Amino acid sequence: MNHIKLHLLLSFFVLLFVSCSADQETEYVLDTDQLIEDLRIISSDSTEGRRTGTEGNQLAREYLLDRFEEEGAEPFQGSFTHEFNFNSRQGEEVTGQNVIGQITGKTDSVIVITAHYDHIGMRDSLIFNGADDDASGTAALLAYIDYFSHVEPNHTLVFAAFDAEEMGLQGARALVQDSVFLDKVKMNINLDMIAQNDKDEIYAVGTYHYPELKPILDGIDKAGVNVLYGHDDPNSNLDDWTYASDHGPFHQQGVPFIYFGVSDHEHYHQHTDDFETIPQEFYKKSVQMILNAIKAFDESL
Ligand SMILES: [Zn+2]
Repeated sequence: MNHIKLHLLLSFFVLLFVSCSADQETEYVLDTDQLIEDLRIISSDSTEGRRTGTEGNQLAREYLLDRFEEEGAEPFQGSFTHEFNFNSRQGEEVTGQNVIGQITGKTDSVIVITAHYDHIGMRDSLIFNGADDDASGTAALLAYIDYFSHVEPNHTLVFAAFDAEEMGLQGARALVQDSVFLDKVKMNINLDMIAQNDKDEIYAVGTYHYPELKPILDGIDKAGVNVLYGHDDPNSNLDDWTYASDHGPFHQQGVPFIYFGVSDHEHYHQHTDDFETIPQEFYKKSVQMILNAIKAFDESL
């Protein structure tokens, strides 16, 4: 074998190696150990139930600010913190703070992925940790930031961890007031209570209003989760969840949404909604299924 042939052969193997590595890069997988660790920390007793305006809420927010940056999110409109004021049901002026970051995609058309990090705080010295509601959705946002900082999306993905959901969807209401931003938003994917179910079931709510989204969801790999439709048709006998969480203000502005959430359960708004009661295997599958949905919407819209 002469030297030229050897060089050609070597170049061939180098190319083969490079292209194989490139293929492997697109198979980046969710970091489920980190997901569980984030869920544990966000819903720990130290955050004291994360009620808006409390020190525990601030502690959770500071953790999220660190983690957004660490996982590679860029600040949203120049900052990760998005402050807003509103009047509580008791008539007091309250300040809330959303944590918002983004992964810039191939276009500036936006899919906004949301969850709320606040919960209902403490009652009679009991801490309401809100592990499912909604530390589960918030920890998933961090996992998706990590994923899409390694796998470039088509759309620009905005990740919003809302404050004051429990006080009337206030964080989401504040964000949708930004009409310049809203004009770029193609859809909202909202995650609120995605971890607690003993039948591997979760609802995808919104296809009654936006039937064009259903075939996209039908086509995804469900990752072992039983995805049910409903809770969005006012004529059905299931409760209507159209305005039950942060997707409501987006829908009010005509933004298509899919809301992922489990049925109400024994721990809902109870002090037993703890990290220890979360079925971790279902939670991981649920987060994987929702990632598959985000990727399908990102490719199809
Ligand atoms: Zn909630």
